[in-house]
Amino acid sequence: MTKPIYSLVIPIYNEEENITEMYRRLSNVMTQLDGDTELILIDDGSRDHSLNMIRELHHCDRRVRYLSFARNFGHQIAVTAGLNFVQGKCVIVMDADLQDPPELILKMIATWQQGYQVVYAQRLSRKRESWLKRFTAYAFYRFLQRLSKVDIPTDTGDFCLMDRQVVDILNAMPERNRYIRGLRAWVGFNQTAVHFERDPRFAGKVKYSFGKSWALAIDGIISFSTVPLKLATYLGMLSAGIALLMMILVLYWRLVDPVSPLIGFTLITIAMFFLGSVQLICIGILGEYISRIYEEVKGRPIYTLKETGGLVRVSEMSSK
Ligand code: UDP
Ligand code: MG
Repeated sequence: MTKPIYSLVIPIYNEEENITEMYRRLSNVMTQLDGDTELILIDDGSRDHSLNMIRELHHCDRRVRYLSFARNFGHQIAVTAGLNFVQGKCVIVMDADLQDPPELILKMIATWQQGYQVVYAQRLSRKRESWLKRFTAYAFYRFLQRLSKVDIPTDTGDFCLMDRQVVDILNAMPERNRYIRGLRAWVGFNQTAVHFERDPRFAGKVKYSFGKSWALAIDGIISFSTVPLKLATYLGMLSAGIALLMMILVLYWRLVDPVSPLIGFTLITIAMFFLGSVQLICIGILGEYISRIYEEVKGRPIYTLKETGGLVRVSEMSSK
């Protein structure tokens, strides 16, 4: 069997309503490509019929290969696992819910052929998503860009094309906390955007709960910025400044205006709460970093596989 040129990586978590349509639209795109293609589907511990459907696709079409996780590990880990197994020279990552239009792949490949190693899809708009999601996403990407030294492009998700060189570097990165759109930007090389309108989901509910989106956002900030750690220093200076000011005021009141009602219980209570909260926030931020150090140090595998179809890990292949 010849090695494919194009590898498509698609994470799937309870997407039974979308798989058939996604496969139909992707096959359409695959027939237009100028080389062999493999379609790698990663079942992220789905609890519906997704895995059965994936197995069936694998039996009918030899281009379809799959991995199945022993439990739900999350979107970023599913993509990471897919990248560990790809064989193609050119790798495309996209979602299973058709929010990322498969037809854009042709344009991405044309851009890759012009000599770009990373082609990421940048959203011009999001159709039919709540204003809250649109606003928080808009604000988050800009906030992260200010905090981080790496230039992580705004309004881009994981829908992208990567050259083999970039994928090899990502696969060699040992870190367990994987904020892929950040790591991808960190790698460097020639990167460019293609623009698109983000469609609504074809079917089914969004699998990223508010909690998961929040966790992803915090991961992005913590992995790509140490500014929050320095916040403790600045908050400390601020509260020291306020304390100094209060000392001067108290001294002034004692000497010049001894009957002022402001000194006493209220002031002390406010100061206590203020300092207490500043300290707790700083400890919390430290905790975020330390818990990630702890995760890294434990060195557990980042996912466990229950089943694979038609795939061998690239590193195992070369050692055989
Ligand atoms: N997904 C996954 N594991 C999860 C959550 C989501 O593999 O724990 C997949 C999901 O099946 C989809 C993609 O990740 O293919 C994006 O998820 P979703 O559409 O729910 O999120 P969005 O990015 O559109 O908010
Ligand atoms: Mg989606």
